[in-house]
Amino acid sequence: MKYFIYCRKSSESEDKQVLSLPAQKSELLKYASDNKLDVVDVYEESASAHVTERKKFNEMLARIEKKEAGGLIVWDESRIARNSFDGGRVIYMIDLGQIVEIRKPGKMYTNTPDDKSWLAMCFMMSKKESDDKGVNVRRGLKEKSQQGMYVGSQQPGYRYDPLAPQGEKDLIPIPGTYELIEKAWRAMLTGKYRVPQILALLNNEWGYRTPLRGKLGGKPMHLSELYVMFHTRFYCGWFEYPTGSGNWHKWRGKVMLTEEEFTRVQMLLGAKYLPKPKHKTFAFTCLIRCVCGSAITAEEKWQTICTICHNKFSSLNREACPKCNTRVENMDNPTILNYIYYHCTRKINPDCKEKSVRLEKLEPQVDEILRHSGISDEFKQWALKYFNELNLF
Ligand SMILES: [Zn+2]
Ligand SMILES: [Zn+2]
Repeated sequence: MKYFIYCRKSSESEDKQVLSLPAQKSELLKYASDNKLDVVDVYEESASAHVTERKKFNEMLARIEKKEAGGLIVWDESRIARNSFDGGRVIYMIDLGQIVEIRKPGKMYTNTPDDKSWLAMCFMMSKKESDDKGVNVRRGLKEKSQQGMYVGSQQPGYRYDPLAPQGEKDLIPIPGTYELIEKAWRAMLTGKYRVPQILALLNNEWGYRTPLRGKLGGKPMHLSELYVMFHTRFYCGWFEYPTGSGNWHKWRGKVMLTEEEFTRVQMLLGAKYLPKPKHKTFAFTCLIRCVCGSAITAEEKWQTICTICHNKFSSLNREACPKCNTRVENMDNPTILNYIYYHCTRKINPDCKEKSVRLEKLEPQVDEILRHSGISDEFKQWALKYFNELNLF
């Protein structure tokens, strides 16, 4: 009778408590020599067992089918399978007599109904364990994102807080690096630089290097990375989780840019498609009404003045000047206008002729009205306390 030793450990959370590959190997070799078992080969595999594409595992089973060995030595049952296909296959091979024995320290399985049903139950339990872990992880991340904690890959200038407890890790600025990334955004905001020029400044002049992670990192930034970064809404405090779901969460950490600054950069890059979080609220809309009785609504406008033909055009979701087709990213420091204007919804009177008003004109008018309606100091204190409790400030 000949044996294969099969050691397996994945990097996933379900295998965190499992012995390392070298430790499994030395334990099992010792077990084999203590029990005078003839080992023909040792397999070490770092792979998850809830998928079926394990290269070494499949190769080993193929060799068992060719009768190179009839016994299998493992650290525990979960090393063999955490999916129903591989688990079923192994039991079927016991039925066929191809696998005569499966051993782990302290236990042995052979072709008996009891052993096989016990083994099947072990595979099922380890599948359940890994399924549960997956569900728990997803549930944990969802809650995290709802509390405003960032979920996703690390962003340049930030890293996950190594001191925060597991499950509460959020991104924090990397001292020194954060400032360089912010400088890159500020340079972009001036409109005087193209992305490759900023890349050269960042890497060569300011000495940016990616954060070290073991032997990785410590490298200059790539141009494509910088483009991706300049399109990443995280920098103005929004992240999407799960990715592609359209669920945007407001991040509670140290945000680098205002939303206006982020949008301005998108305008400068000629970003074609700009997904907008739905949470944008405008002041006053619920407080004021048009003279015709209809509600007031607000809109944000972004316009770019073409540097070639001086045409002023709405630049959200537009890559080029509609008149002369000059691409926005090729314009030298174009003027970008951003304003919020309020207008009648014309719900009550569709023929209302009232014009729109810009926020800059509206605000002083509201201030003027509020100046005449004072509030008592007592009420002010109460309101401030209340706002504080609600975290409105
Ligand atoms: Zn009106
Ligand atoms: Zn033009």
